[in-house]
Amino acid sequence: MQGFEVTVASDGAEGARLALTDPPAAVVADLWMPSISGVQLCRLLSAEPATSDVPVVLRGAEGRRHRFWAERAGAIAYVVKGRMGDLVRALARAVVSRGDAEFFTVLPDDGSDVRDRIAAHLDAALFDSVIAAEVRNLAVCESFERLFDRFAQFASEVATYRWLTVQTLSPLRFGLHASPGGREVAEREARAALDLGPSAAALAPISIEDDDAVGGTDGPPPLVRAISFGETRVGTVAIAPVTGTEKEIASLLEVFARELGGAVRMSTLVEESRRQATVDALTGMFNRRAFIEGATREVARADHCVMPLSLVLFDLDHFKQVNDQRGHASGDRVLHAVGRLVQGSLRPADLCARWGGEEFVLLLPQTCAAQAKEIAERLRAAIAVEHIEDEAGEPIPISASLGVATLQCREVLDSFVDRADRAMYRAKTSGRNRVWAEGEPASCVSASEAVAAEA
Ligand code: GH3
Ligand code: MG
Ligand code: MG
Repeated sequence: MQGFEVTVASDGAEGARLALTDPPAAVVADLWMPSISGVQLCRLLSAEPATSDVPVVLRGAEGRRHRFWAERAGAIAYVVKGRMGDLVRALARAVVSRGDAEFFTVLPDDGSDVRDRIAAHLDAALFDSVIAAEVRNLAVCESFERLFDRFAQFASEVATYRWLTVQTLSPLRFGLHASPGGREVAEREARAALDLGPSAAALAPISIEDDDAVGGTDGPPPLVRAISFGETRVGTVAIAPVTGTEKEIASLLEVFARELGGAVRMSTLVEESRRQATVDALTGMFNRRAFIEGATREVARADHCVMPLSLVLFDLDHFKQVNDQRGHASGDRVLHAVGRLVQGSLRPADLCARWGGEEFVLLLPQTCAAQAKEIAERLRAAIAVEHIEDEAGEPIPISASLGVATLQCREVLDSFVDRADRAMYRAKTSGRNRVWAEGEPASCVSASEAVAAEA
């Protein structure tokens, strides 16, 4: 009806051979056939350069499942058997949409068995989908560090390379898999491949060193691919091949780059949500939950090692007035400033957190009662002179009342905090802007009291 010359092949293999040796305007095939299915035929023809642009129309029974497979195979249309009108229209559309560009690369009839070609093609597709599935599975890793570790392990099983790197953009970081002796060279080359300029000089890689990366300095230049998640660029993957493996690495890298996006995004999201669960948004300090987790460990350790451990709990004085008189935003400024002050005054082993509202807590390992009192006193003095302005630029005078407790033998965190809380309460009731150490005899005048008395 449309003037096509039709060549009929007896089965899928014969059809594939005919199409490959003399590419036609279009191919019509049954979806399900013995020996070579329409799905296989379709995939083969689109993978072969000679026929990659030849449209294939598949036919079969009515049903969503059949349409699904036809579509997945890359057929330009699926028509129900017996509906000749549909077939004619599908063919007309297929041939028109293809245009008449000169794209045919005619395959010489070299007698190579079409079944070998299909087998090779299916092997490649299987390889691709197995690799893709492995990389996609990395989405279960709950951190980038773990993801990179597992990815490097897997990549080195399927490829031979000098080094391998994966970078994420937000946050900016990179993992580097190098050989034990080749770390320095690998890092220099990886930084160049990732375009990490001098501004990232201080950024240390998450490093894996083992003999699964072959190292060395000789080899083709690294291959680099962007990693995206949807439309968003999320990172980069780069591999330095060894001579002879470039082609193989290049095709692997395509799959890696395509599939890593989901895993990178997922691990970043998990990390971010974990961070949000442990960090107080206003001050950037640990929240109470994270503090309890860390402090519980420290309490167990101190008890076990018989090390002194002290706790300082403090509460801002008359803070409600700040909110009432200067607005909640000004109150927030105070909390933010106090958070920074506390964080800036800590030693590396100390742990601090926003305990809640306008209360803060510090855990001081290897610190006896006298030292803790001194630290608390310094903090009290620093808070009292801290210059904080309200929304209108007016200074906000602030002060805090601090309670100090030192861990007793076999004490649990709850009771430890409770004693510090009671000490803080004593600091409040005895006049505010002062330090009270728990268990302090009533006659013992604290440094702050002495200062206050002098004043
Ligand atoms: P005291 O000296 O006895 O501690 O008096 P206070 O006014 O500080 O104590 P109170 O417990 O009556 O008031 C605490 C105030 O802290 C009340 C609450 O609105 C405020 N607050 C708690 N969390 C926040 C916050 O995140 N931002 C702001 N701006 N205010 C907060
Ligand atoms: Mg208060
Ligand atoms: Mg309070």
